[in-house]
Amino acid sequence: MRRFVHGITSGNKSAKPAKAAHEPLIIGREDHCVSRKQISKNALKVLYRLNEAGFESYLVGGGVRDLLLEKAPKDFDISTDASPEQVKELFKNCRLIGRRFRLAHVVFGRDIIEVATFRAAHSEGDGGVTGESGRIMRDNVYGGTLADDAYRRDFTVNGLYYDISDFSVIDYFNGADDLQRRVLRFIGPANDRVIEDPVRALRAARFAAKLDFSMDDDVLEAIRAERHRLSDIPPARLFEEALKLFQSGHGTQSFARLRELDMLAYLFPLTDARLKSGDAYTEKLTELALANTDRRIHNEMPVTPAFIYAVMLWPDVAERAAMYEKEESLPPVPAIHRAADDLIPQQLAATSLPKRFSVPMREIWTLQPRLRKTRGKRAMQLIGNPRFRAAYDFLLLRCEAGEEDLAPLCETWEKLQQHPEAQAAIEAARQAPRPSRRKRPPRRRKQST
Ligand code: ATP
Ligand code: MG
Repeated sequence: MRRFVHGITSGNKSAKPAKAAHEPLIIGREDHCVSRKQISKNALKVLYRLNEAGFESYLVGGGVRDLLLEKAPKDFDISTDASPEQVKELFKNCRLIGRRFRLAHVVFGRDIIEVATFRAAHSEGDGGVTGESGRIMRDNVYGGTLADDAYRRDFTVNGLYYDISDFSVIDYFNGADDLQRRVLRFIGPANDRVIEDPVRALRAARFAAKLDFSMDDDVLEAIRAERHRLSDIPPARLFEEALKLFQSGHGTQSFARLRELDMLAYLFPLTDARLKSGDAYTEKLTELALANTDRRIHNEMPVTPAFIYAVMLWPDVAERAAMYEKEESLPPVPAIHRAADDLIPQQLAATSLPKRFSVPMREIWTLQPRLRKTRGKRAMQLIGNPRFRAAYDFLLLRCEAGEEDLAPLCETWEKLQQHPEAQAAIEAARQAPRPSRRKRPPRRRKQST
């Protein structure tokens, strides 16, 4: 018996071919590589408790997909016929979230297991759910079957279920086949799926980048025809999607796919316009910054959207600030603030950027002219600034991207940081109490149609 590349056996004895959407292919335990050992204890606990209470419960989405690809899943999502309220009754550590798409989160410290209830199939002219544009505005009608649940998912490779009752993998739309061919294909008519939720076009770019998959022609065609609908998506949702694209360790690839598919404008309109005009500096700056961010993530170092956004907007901010310096004789720091005041609203019309990121983003910018002064006590104070490291990294990036006249300055700062007084300032900054932040649990948006 030949093993399929990604852990599914071909010609397997237990597999029953999928004849129609309602009759799935069942891949028996002996014919796939998903093992309970690879599923988190917490996810197993939720799967079993639901099952023991008489409900269906399945692992679904990225968890199954990544395990079949022999990769470590980012998180585990569960699908069940229990309603969110019934899930809540079973788990005292459960909270219900989401309005457009109500979900149960079972919370184990920092680990959150997301449990989604089968939704009923959408019916034609279902005005309560689908808005005039065809976009799904709410989706909270329960009582669906597993087949309905599968149909509502985006890509065939995201629509595979691991059944905790017999350890089989259930495949309604030939997702296992697509996994082996390494191709993204929408479940159902591609254009309709993008119209229902245009964010799926961005998700296509993200999964293609993350998994190194190609896209089926229908996916490419649907994106081309319907991507304009991304301009109707609330900026807060696009911000979250931008984070997933650029802060998951495959930002370089995601950026490339977004550009190929002409979707960058919906996330970073200013950057997109510069790149389209052939601006070599922006090209290099973004390339270096994304590679740098990917490297940091692979090395488990912290990353912040403040830095990525600072990079994306910098060429415009710098150009505009120079204009204010020249034409209105503003000093460099106020000129940057003026430029930022002009440009940030343009970015916020595309994606939101919470204050906790936009404030440090501005600081990275305003520290750039301040870094030109390298003498005396002031320099040491600057090194003690909590944002110094990010601003210095930013300076290095600018230099590498083509502002070669910055090289001597970068060298000076490199040496200054070795100074014992500087080391003390860095240490003091590290130990200084951080400004208090509102404490709230991490937000995750899933299944957000
Ligand atoms: P990863 O967690 O690795 O980023 P994932 O596939 O698990 O990838 P999630 O965003 O965690 O993606 O969503 C879990 C599952 O929910 C998806 O695999 C898919 O089946 C479904 N899903 C999520 N968002 C959508 C959407 N906008 N439209 C349709 N189905 C979706
Ligand atoms: Mg997931």
